Amino acid sequence: MKNIKARFIIEDYQHYLNDVQDIVRAFSPYLILDNSACDFLRLKHFYADGVFTAQIDGTFIPQNQRQIDIDAVGDIEYKKITKHFLKTFIYDCLSAFFGIKLPYGSLTGVRPTKLYYELLDTQTDPKSILINDYRVSPQKAELIEECVFSQRGIYKQDTANCDIFVNVPVCPTRCNYCSFISAEYGKVKKLIPEYIEKVKTEIEMIKKYISEKGLNLRSVYVGGGTPTSIGAESLSSLLSPLARCGVEFTVEAGRPDTVNDEILSVMKDNNVTRISINPQTFNERTLKTIGRAHSVKDIYDSYEKALKYGFDINMDLIAGLEGESLLDFVYSIEKVVELSPQNVTAHTLSIKRGAAIRERQKDMGGNAREMIDFAHEYLKKHKYKPYYMYRQKNMADNLENTGFCLEGKACVYNIDMMEDISSVFGAGANAMTKIYKGQKIERKAHPKHIHDYSKRDIDSLTFNFF
Ligand code: SF4
Repeated sequence: MKNIKARFIIEDYQHYLNDVQDIVRAFSPYLILDNSACDFLRLKHFYADGVFTAQIDGTFIPQNQRQIDIDAVGDIEYKKITKHFLKTFIYDCLSAFFGIKLPYGSLTGVRPTKLYYELLDTQTDPKSILINDYRVSPQKAELIEECVFSQRGIYKQDTANCDIFVNVPVCPTRCNYCSFISAEYGKVKKLIPEYIEKVKTEIEMIKKYISEKGLNLRSVYVGGGTPTSIGAESLSSLLSPLARCGVEFTVEAGRPDTVNDEILSVMKDNNVTRISINPQTFNERTLKTIGRAHSVKDIYDSYEKALKYGFDINMDLIAGLEGESLLDFVYSIEKVVELSPQNVTAHTLSIKRGAAIRERQKDMGGNAREMIDFAHEYLKKHKYKPYYMYRQKNMADNLENTGFCLEGKACVYNIDMMEDISSVFGAGANAMTKIYKGQKIERKAHPKHIHDYSKRDIDSLTFNFF
């Protein structure tokens, strides 16, 4: 396989730079963008007499040109058509040159299901369009379609619908692949009481707003981080204003070492309906490598305890963890299925800025494609169906994260959040409030860190947005 370091030159780039760079970057590590490289890849495009022409050439790639007729259309439609055309053209050129096909073809967005829904408005067979026009592999097009079909009965675009998300960006220790903003509990312990009071005030304001506007609350999600790492007393205080919402209520108890009877009772007493206990792997050696401060036995113990409380349980696994072979991952999937939680989320490792292991990324993600293929096949064989999916930047092998559920156990919050079909009111540091206005979504982010959030005047947080 060729490995090339190149400068990327796009002429008249103002409308296309980010989108086009995304598709070029998808060919990493075979093609690495570097402004100081000697090799280059140049994209030109121009429009004349109703014909849009794109041309690609470089010091290593043969010159290639493609044209499309464009009838008179408005600016937005013109940009949409030409952007898609350029991305697919570049994809085809690079795919032929490197001799590889990417699972999502020229699709670089994080939510492929959104495109499927969009196509559904005008096309009878969106899956074929994904395969033929976007070069998505038949297998991934099938996955996208399966997720959309699984969402029937829950998916509903409605500006009167909303969800609440509360962020607790605190964990017992830091996983070495983590790039979320999450502080180690020991380092922020003193800030927690003040933080919780502020978040509770914000939750009360959100609830009042929802009630005054007559909005329809669909779900509550307390995530992070690991909210269960703040201890039973603090967690109880935090959950109390949400206890009577009467909707699907999830709390991430992601780290098994934070799950004990006291914490589980607090969640039960506050009417939590769904929790996440995330092994990531059932391989003892890998748990140590990735910086989790718990053992495989902790995973089993916490799961067994949680079962007694009757929660729906989600378990996350990650494909492509450092040092893991395909067999290690197969073992983890088999162990999760043996436990039969209501939800399993098959993640692909994504390495982002700030991850301590970025330097060692060449050792990671090696077999991710085989791992994810196995996970999907095995989960489906055991009655799990995919119901939501999303992609992130820098995912091993250009793959995706997919949530699977047993019949009737799809998580409403995950669907609302990922498909952008309802407003999500965020409370807490680094939470995002999204207001769904039909064709448009307005977003407002909170201060990222606990300390900054706690210092801010409450009126400058959620409510100055409405
Ligand atoms: S549990 Fe999640 S948020 Fe916490 S350190 Fe690990 S990856 Fe980051």
